[in-house]
Amino acid sequence: MHEGMARSVVLQGAHRCERCELPPRWCICAAQRAEACPLHVDVLQHALEAHRPSSTGNLIPRVVEGARVHLYRRERPLAPSEIVRAEASELWILHPHGEPLPGRDLAAEAASGRKLQVLLLDASWAQAGGMLAQVQSWGRRVRLPMAGKSRYALRAQNGDGRFSTFEALLFLLDARGEAEAARRLRLQFELHVYAGLCSRGRKLEAEAYLAESPVREAFPELILEFARKRPNFEAFERAGTKSSNGGRSDAAGDGAGGPGSRREQT
Ligand SMILES: [Zn+2]
Repeated sequence: MHEGMARSVVLQGAHRCERCELPPRWCICAAQRAEACPLHVDVLQHALEAHRPSSTGNLIPRVVEGARVHLYRRERPLAPSEIVRAEASELWILHPHGEPLPGRDLAAEAASGRKLQVLLLDASWAQAGGMLAQVQSWGRRVRLPMAGKSRYALRAQNGDGRFSTFEALLFLLDARGEAEAARRLRLQFELHVYAGLCSRGRKLEAEAYLAESPVREAFPELILEFARKRPNFEAFERAGTKSSNGGRSDAAGDGAGGPGSRREQT
């Protein structure tokens, strides 16, 4: 009905980077990479999550080497062969009603030479019930010791004890003593969150997030480039005011741009 609104949605869709799914201005592909992971990672994603920009299920295959996403539709039952990896030592399905995290037997793991497979349910807990019913006989249900506050600032429900699918993977890695893998993947996760906040115009939140994030030190060039784009960012935020005066480096904001020598503090 409102032509302008519909067009802007289409426009937004057309201007997203195909890879990182962010608007080109906030594209993080220069820093985004698939990191090696000591686990086989599979995501069972509810169909309703698939197109949500806030889903972290879609982020996982981009930054976790070898990870796969399977779409869950209630009307299409899954076959174990679609998900269970023959090369894995065991399948764990993460769920709050599972058993406590089993301890590691490093000698046995080394002897088998196989990696553990983890299945993450990317859904609301209400949806996850039906998903779990389909897959729970294929593996071991395991509960994670998740505590603290989520760093997933893109979804409103990040209160105590509410974590994103990606953070469940980070908890699991940490709990298994895989601190280095967890650290590298956390960088990719927080970069995605930070750029997401920027792309939504949530400037103050983005700044506060960055101040507490290892991303600032890990990706200094990209963060600096984002900072250079701030004039546009602010002009965009003040939509309705004149934008021609403040845009002192509009051109620098668009292209890949060289690693210039200018420094602008955030
Ligand atoms: Zn991109």
